[in-house]
Amino acid sequence: MSYEVEKPDEQWRAELTPAEYQVLRQAGTEPAFRGEYTDTKTKGVYSCRACGAELFTSNEKFESHCGWPSFFDPKDSSAVELIEDRSHGMLRTEVRCSRCGSHLGHVFEGEGYPTPTDQRYCINSISLRLEPQES
Ligand SMILES: [Zn+2]
Repeated sequence: MSYEVEKPDEQWRAELTPAEYQVLRQAGTEPAFRGEYTDTKTKGVYSCRACGAELFTSNEKFESHCGWPSFFDPKDSSAVELIEDRSHGMLRTEVRCSRCGSHLGHVFEGEGYPTPTDQRYCINSISLRLEPQES
């Protein structure tokens, strides 16, 4: 599989902080309720912290109370890539940035949240960077 933005591992390591690298490039998960965007209601666009691709917007963000920023839909369906993840003895769907392949989080479905899609993109704050909308 190839991505539009590809860099050798040592370059990612140099460009990202150790915590960013661990989540984005090693599919780690930040601790619940600690991420900087968990409860953020600021209007704006959330971009990939690794490559800057626009991934989510505040319009699709909702309060899931799960401890991570949650979106019911990506900005564009082509902005993210969904991959079957059988790690940790579970079957989950991993969400990656489709431009650089960095790990963002997981998507869950059918949980009964009152959103248009009944999906919850559970995304690590540290994978994103919020650009507040100019008002
Ligand atoms: Zn990216």
